Amino acid sequence: MRSVSPEQLSVNEETVEVVTSAPPLAGRMETPPDNQNSTIEIETNVPSLTKKTEAPKSAQKSTSKSNKAVYLTFDDGPTSLTDDFLDLLMENEVQATFFMVGTNLNNVEWQDEVKRAVEEGHYVGAHSMTHDYNKLYKQGEFVDEMKESLALIGEITGVTPTLVRPPYGSKPGLKDSLRNEIADANLKVWDWTIDSKDWKLQGNPNGIVEQVKSTTTEDIEIVLLHEKETTLEALQDIIDFYKNEGYEFAVYQEGEHFMSNFWKDERL
Ligand SMILES: [Zn+2]
Repeated sequence: MRSVSPEQLSVNEETVEVVTSAPPLAGRMETPPDNQNSTIEIETNVPSLTKKTEAPKSAQKSTSKSNKAVYLTFDDGPTSLTDDFLDLLMENEVQATFFMVGTNLNNVEWQDEVKRAVEEGHYVGAHSMTHDYNKLYKQGEFVDEMKESLALIGEITGVTPTLVRPPYGSKPGLKDSLRNEIADANLKVWDWTIDSKDWKLQGNPNGIVEQVKSTTTEDIEIVLLHEKETTLEALQDIIDFYKNEGYEFAVYQEGEHFMSNFWKDERL
């Protein structure tokens, strides 16, 4: 089992950052939770921060062909940049995992890109309909929104996925009762092991690359990225870094699911 990792703290930073920093970056979809104080408190009470030392057994099993595997994941699409991301991934023969938001999936201008992603072997999972912290976690609409967005992906692509990524990460929002609902609905949840911090490093592609490099330590890594301009600028260097480090680029496979959520909930 992994212990609490520094990456997990970065989730907290994201929450705190979103709440306390004044204007969100242009195009950013994040909406802050309204009860920031309790959020921060919960998060900073995390006890010892030992760096995780081994990948989950199931992860090691599922990547027996290679010792090291990285899952690049892109949140908040589809966007006007989706085609560019897909082009760059194709040039590099890299497949990735996308977590898309209902409000953007409903934009018919971007639905061809969603189809293209699936056709080219990427995994498209759901990232809720609204990306609204209060609705998802405080009003408890997480599962309903995820089911709706998963079904929408199914309508667009012909393939209905089962994996979701919680907006802002699963902690602290996904409390027991919501996780019970998720397990009952047979959905799977992925957080991440590497926070590229691209959500706050827009305009600074080198900063994103350095953040990824400096926090990559494990044989199995799941990298949080967003469909944003500066992320696109940083992507080639990120791919080159993992290639040079001997990582295989992996895409999420439902049949080879392994647990990666901040609650260590084995059901998800
Ligand atoms: Zn998001």
